[in-house]
Amino acid sequence: MHKTIIIGTGPAGLTSAIYLARANMEPLVIEGWQPGGQLTTTTEVENFPGFPDGILGSELMDNMRKQAQKFGATFKTGSVKSVDFSKRPYTLEVEGLGQLQAESIIISTGASAKYLGIPGEQENIGRGVSTCATCDGFFFRGKKLIVIGGGDSAMEEASFLTRFATEVRVVNRREELRASKIMQDRARGNEKVAWSLNRTPLEVVAGENGLQGLRVRNNETGAEELLEADGVFVAIGHTPNTGFLGGQIETDAQGYILVKPGTSETNIPGVFACGDVQDTTYRQAITAAGSGCMAALDCERYLEAQAHEAVHA
Ligand code: NDP
Repeated sequence: MHKTIIIGTGPAGLTSAIYLARANMEPLVIEGWQPGGQLTTTTEVENFPGFPDGILGSELMDNMRKQAQKFGATFKTGSVKSVDFSKRPYTLEVEGLGQLQAESIIISTGASAKYLGIPGEQENIGRGVSTCATCDGFFFRGKKLIVIGGGDSAMEEASFLTRFATEVRVVNRREELRASKIMQDRARGNEKVAWSLNRTPLEVVAGENGLQGLRVRNNETGAEELLEADGVFVAIGHTPNTGFLGGQIETDAQGYILVKPGTSETNIPGVFACGDVQDTTYRQAITAAGSGCMAALDCERYLEAQAHEAVHA
């Protein structure tokens, strides 16, 4: 039996681990198949305070992991398949590790990039299809690119990719963009950004020598066309990684965990959430780390209160 188990090793989970380990709570951290979380899919991180010259995302995560280990956090690799929060201690069914029990749980499983689900998309991931401009933009120097989506992510990625590409075409399924005005204006003011709005993506078309482009339907005329490109960046949002909870924790309609405002408390006492899995607004490494600290402090107080109750029962 563990005092606390942390699920997920992005900045949120690792910050919780550092705090709980330093408080002698001996946290067990379950590391999934993408240890370090989304930051490991980026290159340079320039906005994490304390690193005036920037730091590689993978290096930052590696440092956080070492810091947690130094204070006594234990790491095990596995994928949590289901949970039982109906009675204490709480039980986790973990592929590769079996059943684990803990008095408290911190959920920091983050969010994953959404895909369109069109033909040619999955087959060409890493061969021209990407969900991460900062990771893969570099490979498309002097090429033509497409960014799919009309939100802030799409605008940001399109602007960023013009550093490498000769042309970046934004494809959005509606005429209107969902992105904030400032982000739209920035992309619209960039002469390397082209626009194919009101187009539904139908297929990523690839030949023997890489991508040929994206087949789309013009929603106004119904006509299909092939938009030529060497790379396609899908930027249509993220999905929180909460499927394994089986509905045992309150979430919003999209599956993001609901926490009591100003805390990391979920609707189950002793189960806390931090990082992108509960954040639909900020989604930054530093806010994730900050919320990981909150979860650790909330968890510590909870465990202390439980111990106090047990002594006085
Ligand atoms: P959003 O949900 O805001 O936008 C998703 C976009 O993808 C929309 O244009 C949507 O179209 C489109 N889309 C979704 N599903 C499909 C589909 N199946 N086929 C075609 N198109 C699809 O996600 P973002 O990741 O852009 O942003 C998420 C949050 O993060 C926002 O709150 C945003 O403000 C914030 N953010 C802020 C940044 C910043 O300020 N620097 C940078 C990046 C994100 P439709 O509009 O038709 O639904």
